[in-house]
Amino acid sequence: MYNTIKKYISCFSVTGSEKYLADVIAEDMAPYADSITTDPMGNLICFKKGKDSSKRMMFAAHMDEIGFVVTYIEKNGYIRVSNVGGINAVASSSHEVEFINGTKGVLIFESGATEYNVKKLYVDIGAKDRKDAEKKVHVGDYLALTQNIVRLGNRRIAGKAMDDRLGCAVIAEAAKLIKTPAYDTYFVFTTQEEVGLRGSKAAANAILPLYGIACDVTPTYDTIGSQGGEVALGGGAAIKVKDSSVICSKKVVDRLAELAEKNKIKYQYEVLLAGGTDTASMQVAGAGCYAGCISVPCRYVHQPVETIDLKDCEASVKLFAAIAEEGFE
Ligand SMILES: [Zn+2]
Repeated sequence: MYNTIKKYISCFSVTGSEKYLADVIAEDMAPYADSITTDPMGNLICFKKGKDSSKRMMFAAHMDEIGFVVTYIEKNGYIRVSNVGGINAVASSSHEVEFINGTKGVLIFESGATEYNVKKLYVDIGAKDRKDAEKKVHVGDYLALTQNIVRLGNRRIAGKAMDDRLGCAVIAEAAKLIKTPAYDTYFVFTTQEEVGLRGSKAAANAILPLYGIACDVTPTYDTIGSQGGEVALGGGAAIKVKDSSVICSKKVVDRLAELAEKNKIKYQYEVLLAGGTDTASMQVAGAGCYAGCISVPCRYVHQPVETIDLKDCEASVKLFAAIAEEGFE
């Protein structure tokens, strides 16, 4: 699990540039899928035939991470950027960044800034002026924060883009455990989630699942100053009840809890006050589907030190494998 997460996080995969990661996941999924395809939005769709082909189940985890795009280059060679997705400007500042072509830089607030938002940030790539900078970077190039994974104790790790490489790793690891799924099952690694659940909308409308279950991270309420919920790191797989994009189908929530009890998988319920997931796209695709989400608890979401517990990941893998094998009947 740890190695899969590490491998996926090392791929450049800012929203809209998910192809590098898609290629890596496709290689991992190849032994466990009957077919692997991509669509024009870049979604990676891995299909596995089930016992009952009259029903379709879709699993979704998004490949993209929040990042930046170059908006313009100052005369003195400093690079201005805009956010792609919900960037925390303060948490991202004074940090190393990497452009899609491998160029390195550092992300810095303007000297004397009194507002701390993305407009006040710039990237220094060591260029002497605009002409020099343009040899390496142009307007429209994407860039991501870089951050090594740090192990915290035995089972916890911190790093960037756990949201949602973790979900990708959970679904890919679950695929290894599933012999024959109850229904025809689509493991979908989606694009452009961070800007409005876009890839999953296209994929869900093509697949038209009867059951749709996403895997994403969810914030915890066990840190200093956080309040408003109960999800805790180490508390097990979090069965989503609602977030601001979706009210999960009771049928899915109850079935996931039942399977967790039966298979002795540690779980908790998640009520997320703000934020959406690919669950919402699946729920309203076609004539609608029974939709839910197995969330993985994560501290410091959308900061470069997103912190997770490997035991929660393992619980989530087992719960995905259980719902895939045992279905809803
Ligand atoms: Zn996410």
